Amino acid sequence: MFDVIIIGAGVNGAFVAYRLAKYQLNVLVIEKESDVANETSGANSAIIHSGYDPNPNTLKAKLNVIGNRLYDDICHDLDVEFKRIGSITIACNEEEIAVLDNLTKNAIQNKVPFTILDEHQLRKIEPFVTTKAKKALFAPTSGIINPFELCVGLMENAMDNGVKLHLEEEVKHIVNLEKGYQVITNKETYQAKIVVNAAGVFADEINNMVNPHQEKIIPRKGEYMVFDHFTEPYVTHTLFSVPTSRGKGVLVTPSTHGNYLIGPSSIFVGEKDDESTSKETLNEVIEQAYRLVDKIPMNHLIRQFAGLRAYHESNDFVINQPIPGFINLLGMQSPGLASAPATSLEVEAMVKEQLDLVDKENYQKTRRPLYRLNKKTLAERSKLIKQNPQFANMICRCEQISEGEIVDAIHRNCGARTVKGVKKRVRPGFGKCQGGFCEPLVMKILARELNIDMNDVRFNNKGSYILKNKTKGEHDDTL
Ligand SMILES: Cc1cc2nc3c(=O)[nH]c(=O)nc-3n(C[C@H](O)[C@H](O)[C@H](O)COP(=O)(O)OP(=O)(O)OC[C@H]3O[C@@H](n4cnc5c(N)ncnc54)[C@H](O)[C@@H]3O)c2cc1C
Repeated sequence: MFDVIIIGAGVNGAFVAYRLAKYQLNVLVIEKESDVANETSGANSAIIHSGYDPNPNTLKAKLNVIGNRLYDDICHDLDVEFKRIGSITIACNEEEIAVLDNLTKNAIQNKVPFTILDEHQLRKIEPFVTTKAKKALFAPTSGIINPFELCVGLMENAMDNGVKLHLEEEVKHIVNLEKGYQVITNKETYQAKIVVNAAGVFADEINNMVNPHQEKIIPRKGEYMVFDHFTEPYVTHTLFSVPTSRGKGVLVTPSTHGNYLIGPSSIFVGEKDDESTSKETLNEVIEQAYRLVDKIPMNHLIRQFAGLRAYHESNDFVINQPIPGFINLLGMQSPGLASAPATSLEVEAMVKEQLDLVDKENYQKTRRPLYRLNKKTLAERSKLIKQNPQFANMICRCEQISEGEIVDAIHRNCGARTVKGVKKRVRPGFGKCQGGFCEPLVMKILARELNIDMNDVRFNNKGSYILKNKTKGEHDDTL
């Protein structure tokens, strides 16, 4: 019998696992995808919002503000990229200025630090802002994070401390027993004293397996464009439009690794796996982005992607326990990422009400740091190469990623099993060539390190094989 089963390995499931890993508990995380952060937690704006936006007295406001403050220490312990670059919300006309003025009231009530900038002050700190901008709200505590690294870091630390992760296993039924729950997957049947439903856009389906009060989550799609890093100066803060009823609106922001992100759109969709992008929607995103900046570096556009928000009719987070021992995380749309450190504390408190939480003796607070060769000096690189020549073999030339880093990403706890898994952890394929040069090399490393045939290397989930058959002779396994 498990003490706790967590369904879903997005940021919320991973954070709950990380929190509970401190205690002498038998914890299992079940994830239907081939990796952590494969759904919404891997396809969002990656902003750790400051918390001025949500209406005061909502759970979103409370958890966003607390969550934001907790990020520095957690990212330090887990070696996750996080930068407090500050956000600027821009108003271009009288109507938008009225919305901005309301936001300042929220900021005061939510106790979030901010400054109001006039158009001259604004242009001084952010020269690329549109000349139409009249007034802006600067929130210095807003940050950007690497969301893949965050989820992997949380799960790796949880696993270092004994939590179990079962990937590619889908929860199909849950039975409410006299004591605890039976969780039935496509592979196994488990029993647990407590079940945490962190299934994102599917959280209604998990709830509806066991709770007579049926819930509904509607997916709301957000489409983005990603721009490569370039040497000329561009925006250095996260630029937001004033929010509308459809959400926070389009943003323009740098990412932690120097790329730029423009988006997202906000459209309800029928299917929970609809992560397609369309020319029409992205053209609208561009139009919206021109309300923030006068220049968009279209010649550096390298990719589009989409993520799904888990919209609940309350339009707030719903963290409840409709039946003793069954904990729901519903409607975890934005600012769900920013709030996750605080959301997981709420879940921890609920678990504490039911189980004796005894500290683990050998608990490890930190995870082993990553190598990050592209951030090292030449002297530091040479030292590493002397220890392990794989660090001298540059696999991804765009992002400067060595074989040594990829091998390390495969062999850690919560290690990469697929090409996408390697990409999410150490970035080969994120650069200008989008994997055109490095993908075959990454495949060879995966095959060698996992001791599988090249034909069995997958891009991502089940069936996503890249190679079909050998055309002639044996594979050349030299890199
Ligand atoms: C366009 C967009 C932009 C956003 N921008 C921001 C932002 O800048 N800042 C911010 O704070 N928030 C942002 N968010 C919100 C944030 O991304 C989410 O709140 C957060 O990622 C939700 O995490 P989660 O763990 O609840 O869900 P998910 O990441 O979706 O994880 C749920 C997991 O459960 C698994 N699962 C589902 N059903 C089952 C099953 N039956 N069995 C096993 N596993 C199952 C799924 O495969 C999935 O991996 C944004 C969201 C979107 C869509």
